[in-house]
Amino acid sequence: MRTDGDNWDIVSSVGRTALGVATFRALETARPDALIEDEFARWFVEAAADPHFVGLLADPSPLEDTPFFFPGFMGIRTKFFDGFFLSAAAAGVSQAVILAAGLDARAYRLDWPAGATVFEVDQSKVLEFKNEVLTEHGAHAKVDRRPVAVDLRDDWPAALAGAGFDPGRPSAWSAEGLLPYLPGAAHDALFERIDGLSAPGSRLAVDGFGNGADLRRFEAIREKYFPVNPFGDMDVAELFYEDERADPAVWLTGHGWSVDPFTLLELAADYGVPVPPLPEELADLTTRSTYVTAEK
Ligand code: SAM
Repeated sequence: MRTDGDNWDIVSSVGRTALGVATFRALETARPDALIEDEFARWFVEAAADPHFVGLLADPSPLEDTPFFFPGFMGIRTKFFDGFFLSAAAAGVSQAVILAAGLDARAYRLDWPAGATVFEVDQSKVLEFKNEVLTEHGAHAKVDRRPVAVDLRDDWPAALAGAGFDPGRPSAWSAEGLLPYLPGAAHDALFERIDGLSAPGSRLAVDGFGNGADLRRFEAIREKYFPVNPFGDMDVAELFYEDERADPAVWLTGHGWSVDPFTLLELAADYGVPVPPLPEELADLTTRSTYVTAEK
C-alpha cells in the first residue's frame, strides 16, 4: 500500500522492485545468449542479501516456466534503453537523465562520449545503497555521473538544476520501470517538466503497461499462471497507482514530440528473442505499445 510521501530503502516497498530488476539483469547476463552484460547487477543483489533474490541468483530454475519473465525478457528491456542512450549520444546529445535510476549501471556499462554527463535521479536511500556498493567494489563510472537524490513527486527539476543540468542544451531522458509507481498527478507533471526542460533535439524513452491495462488484474494473473512470484512474497501490483493519467504517447505527440511506439513482441523480433506462447490475458499486455521513444 502506498501513501503520499512514502519512502523506502533497497529492500522495502518500491525500492525492492529495483533490486528485483537488478536480479533479472544479473540472470540475463549469465545466460549463454544474453542480450546485455551487466556485471554490476550481481553485486547489488549480493550486497542487499535479500533471501529471495539471492536464492534466485543461486538457482533461477523456479523462474523458468514463468510466463512474461521468460528468458530474455529483462534483456529486451535493458537493450531497448541501452540502444536509446547510445543513439542519442551518437547524435551529439551529451546530457542524459535517468529518472528512477534504481540500480541501473549504465553510467558504468556504456561507452559514453567524452564530455557527457549522466544524472541519476532516485530516492536518497536507494542511491546511498548503490553508491556504497559501487565504492566497495572500486567501480569507476565511464562518464561524469551525478546522483540526484530527490523524490519524483517533489520539485525534482530544482534538484536536477542544482546538480548542474543545463536546460539550454538537448538532453536524453529515460523513465524505465517507473510510471505505474507514480500517482496520476506526479505522472502527468513528470512529462510536463521533462518537456519544459527539454531543448529542441532532446529525446525521451519510457516504458509502461500501456494505458487501459487493468493493473490490479496483474496479481490475479500472476497467481493463476506463475509457478512462483518473481518478487518473492511482495505483491508488486499493490505498489502501483491506477488513477487517471495522460497517455504518454498521445501527450508527447500533442506537445510536438515525434513518437515511435513499440510492442514487446516487436522488440523481441528485432533482437531475435523467441517469446514463448503466453496465456491470452498476458498476451494482451504484449500487444500494447509499452515501449516508446520520442524526439523533440
Ligand atoms: N529504472 C531502474 C531499472 O529499470 O533498473 C529501476 C526500476 S525500479 C522497478 C523502480 C524505481 O523507481 C526504484 O528505484 C524506485 O526507487 C524509483 N521510484 C519510484 N517512485 C519514485 C519516486 N516517487 N521518487 C524517486 N524514485 C522513485
